[in-house]
Amino acid sequence: MRQRVSIVKIVDCDFEAAVQEAIEQAGGLSDLIRSDSRVLVKPNLCKPFPSGSGVVADARVTEAVTRAVLDCGPASVTIAEGAAVGYDDGSFSTEDAFTVSGTAAVARRLGVRCVNLNSDVPVPVEVPEPRAMDRVLVARTVLESDVVISVPVLKTHNRANATIALKNMYGALPGTEKRAGHMLGINNTLIDLFSVLRPSFSVVDGSVAMEGRWRSPQDSRLMGLVLAGRDALATDLVGCALMGIDPDSVLYLRRMTEWDGEVSGIGDVDIVGESLLEHAECFKSAFQVFLEDFPGVQVVQGPGSCGGCMSELETALRHLKGAGYEQAMNGLTILVGAPGEFNDGDKVAVIGECSAEINNGWPAATGCPPSEDDVIEALCAACGADPALVMSVRDDTRREVWDSSRDLIER
Ligand code: SF4
Repeated sequence: MRQRVSIVKIVDCDFEAAVQEAIEQAGGLSDLIRSDSRVLVKPNLCKPFPSGSGVVADARVTEAVTRAVLDCGPASVTIAEGAAVGYDDGSFSTEDAFTVSGTAAVARRLGVRCVNLNSDVPVPVEVPEPRAMDRVLVARTVLESDVVISVPVLKTHNRANATIALKNMYGALPGTEKRAGHMLGINNTLIDLFSVLRPSFSVVDGSVAMEGRWRSPQDSRLMGLVLAGRDALATDLVGCALMGIDPDSVLYLRRMTEWDGEVSGIGDVDIVGESLLEHAECFKSAFQVFLEDFPGVQVVQGPGSCGGCMSELETALRHLKGAGYEQAMNGLTILVGAPGEFNDGDKVAVIGECSAEINNGWPAATGCPPSEDDVIEALCAACGADPALVMSVRDDTRREVWDSSRDLIER
């Protein structure tokens, strides 16, 4: 199956013209939106950051998309988001994210409502072939919409490796369900979610993108682009190529391109507008930047390596350090993604199913991806740490973060 994705340059800061052109080149909205359609525009407003930072969808892109939707004369238009609820880190107020980004002002100007999905009514949706969740709770406002338009930013991601049009839909889960998804394994949860919920159309804010760990402004990348596509998977493949990210290193993209009836790779995508090659960059991954805080740890990644194992590895390393094992981790070598060659040492751990053939009797965490607890166990066994202590430090940290932000996600 072939899909089309457009890449359009923003000229003279005219976001509206660029968004309109990108939408048209990708096939337009007129046959998606009818007079009785309830349309939901879902910008990425994960944190309260200003437009232009690259952390959130620029309100000028959201405004241009919402105007294009209104031009089609739908029954209703809603702008909705549920900000990041924090897993090991902090949580954020969705209302603040609407205000600080300028999205609340856009909604007022255009006469549409803003909805906080974190405190929306959760509705169960059965997952036909579950990997992590046999049913996922989705915000009612999203399920009651006939057309959902994803408005993400082009960004790397610490737990999935990339976040673009599909991953932006994680915001459609009410707050407690977001945390449940992390607990059950975020990468498999994302695959479950995208098997039952996909946007109808995507318009990607590539004006300012984000690499690494989204430190603003040093990780922002001025790209001056807007992307659009009907198929979110195809749009994500093009977005990854623009960031220089191998889509196989993003577990949900790797799995989805194997599904029947989906694009199997970027070769199945007709890219219209600007040249992909001319604009492609090479972004630093979030995990690469994370590892800078662990100079004594070597992670050897093979060709199979992907965000699935990196997510659990990040948690394990973070909490080993938090439990006071920084010295014990010095000299630790972690093998992930079936590396062919590596210099082993005294302390070696093997992570993930695709490295299972490396069997030298080293502590290993199997599974694709392995569970967070299994990764902690393997790393602790390799460097002589107590896994019970590490897990209790992790649980205390999370309890503190979650208790302090209960009011942001409960109705
Ligand atoms: S075992 Fe880990 S690195 Fe290998 S494919 Fe699975 S999640 Fe990715």
